[in-house]
Amino acid sequence: MTELRTAGRVSAAVAVLALATACAGSDAAGPGAPATSVTPEAQVTSTSPPPPAPQEVSANELGQVPVLMYHRVVADPRSVYDRTPADFRAELERLAGEGYVTVTAAQYAKGEIDIPAGAHPVVLTFDDADPSQFALAADGSPVAGTAVAIMREVAAAHPDFRGVGSFFVNADPFGDPGGLRTIPWLRAHGMEVGNHTLTHVNLRTAGPAAAQQDIARGDQAIRRAGGEPEVLALPFGILPSEPGLAVDGAADGVEYHYRGALLVGANPAPSPYSGDFDPVRIPRIRSQAATGKEAELASTVWLDKLAADPASRFTSDGVAERVSFPQDAGVVADAFQARAQAY
Ligand SMILES: [Zn+2]
Repeated sequence: MTELRTAGRVSAAVAVLALATACAGSDAAGPGAPATSVTPEAQVTSTSPPPPAPQEVSANELGQVPVLMYHRVVADPRSVYDRTPADFRAELERLAGEGYVTVTAAQYAKGEIDIPAGAHPVVLTFDDADPSQFALAADGSPVAGTAVAIMREVAAAHPDFRGVGSFFVNADPFGDPGGLRTIPWLRAHGMEVGNHTLTHVNLRTAGPAAAQQDIARGDQAIRRAGGEPEVLALPFGILPSEPGLAVDGAADGVEYHYRGALLVGANPAPSPYSGDFDPVRIPRIRSQAATGKEAELASTVWLDKLAADPASRFTSDGVAERVSFPQDAGVVADAFQARAQAY
């Protein structure tokens, strides 16, 4: 977190806040006015400090990004895909404490990673739209103990973390007919709603026509609820026999075009600016303790590895338009060559 506090964007935010406080104080001029004053010189120089040099924060925007995968968040886990609310909260607290900032899957896939210098992006993805991920109470707020409620609580305690997630839904998500209440709420609160096909078919065994049809119908269902899906999470992590159909296709006169398709396993994802990035095969890491089935692939183990090898991890330079990295960090994707800055 030390890196974050000295980062350019955070410093700028603090400076702007100080300036706003000073202005409010001078307007109010009452008992609530701050005891210390801000000099005019300080006001002029504090509005927009330059971001730190990339090497100051060890920026590596060709580094790896954990894309975590969640299913149910329940008190009685029934499989390795479930997490308890306590374990889910602990993982988010860990991420926030290690300087991670949440971005959506679409922001990641498009290379729109706008986070402070020194911070690391993490993508939180949720499949199958189980009601334990999200449900709305009668008063219109997220039901306590759901993943969304927990994410928002952690983000309230750690504002730098942001607490946004990407929800990949099928028909009638979260037990909400058509997703007509839940999808607009998620989008209004900064969350992403992506496609997981209408009926969760195996896109390979279904054949190309049926695969496109289930993707297109899922796309249309989300759009009817006000969503604009940009990413597909592959049911069972299985690609169509023609892999490109995961991201570009048509059925019944409806076209779909996505920026990425998410696999199920089993390692950190390459930077979207890297030559290794393949939008049709974005790997994910299963959220899991460092015990049990296939524990070597668990999020706890991968987060330990990334923490132990900071140079392998994506670290932001704090400037969204610039892609900074050490000279030997890797190959930049063609689409981002013009923005590349090695140091
Ligand atoms: Zn699924």
